[in-house]
Amino acid sequence: AEAEPLLSVNNIEVIYDHVILVLKGVSLSVPEGGVVALLGANGAGKTTTLKAISNLLRAERGEVTKGSIHLRGEEVQGLTPNDLVKRGVIQVMEGRHCFEHLTIEENLLTGAYTRSANRGQIAQDLEMVYTYFPRLKERRSSQAGYTSGGEQQMCAIGRALMSRPQMILLDEPSMGLAPQLVEEIFEIVKSLNRDEGVSFLLAEQNTNVALRYATYGYILENGRVVLDGEAQALRENEDVKEFYLGIS
Ligand code: ATP
Repeated sequence: AEAEPLLSVNNIEVIYDHVILVLKGVSLSVPEGGVVALLGANGAGKTTTLKAISNLLRAERGEVTKGSIHLRGEEVQGLTPNDLVKRGVIQVMEGRHCFEHLTIEENLLTGAYTRSANRGQIAQDLEMVYTYFPRLKERRSSQAGYTSGGEQQMCAIGRALMSRPQMILLDEPSMGLAPQLVEEIFEIVKSLNRDEGVSFLLAEQNTNVALRYATYGYILENGRVVLDGEAQALRENEDVKEFYLGIS
């Protein structure tokens, strides 16, 4: 028998404002230790899928009206976003969302909020974050609002790491970043996966980079998964090449 996936989403439907049907039956799974890409054009439903998993839809007047979401076999609908963080699942929102008036280090420390860890432990975790993000260490005393887009994206991921997650739902990490920085961020994702065992479900419009780093991918179109497979197979798929990679 196959090992139970870390996360499994089964045929979920999401409706906003009671009438707008946005996800029309999405299923996916993330194995323990996986890096899974959720791909698709602007508006396909990637963010909605991540928010359904982390239970952040309510704030947007959205609701899962069908299907189920299991974390290690346990249904998670009905848990608060905080409960999910305590169970090891945290979302890094699109657009970075650092506290602009706090320093980088203060931002990172806010990420430890759900934990009862002692100061020694938190200090150790901060050092762990700084080993993966040396740039953040250099900028630790800078006000986040004055750092670059790349540094703010790093800060958002670093802050999530401070909750010691098993899985990060990463929304559009490449957005607005120069290609070299995108590569840098994805290299860090790769190391976090390899060395800390963090699993990732990442939403990306940048199909090319996502499929180079992910092990598996799902392509969403208009609220439905239209194609999924091993990253390698997707990279070689003719439709993916034509419509998502711009090569044919
Ligand atoms: P993006 O890259 O823009 O984030 P996406 O694939 O993540 O795209 P979603 O943000 O999930 O797509 O949006 C999917 C659809 O749901 C879009 O048509 C969008 O207009 C709609 N939508 C998103 N949020 C809401 C909301 N709060 N109320 C109503 N409709 C919404």
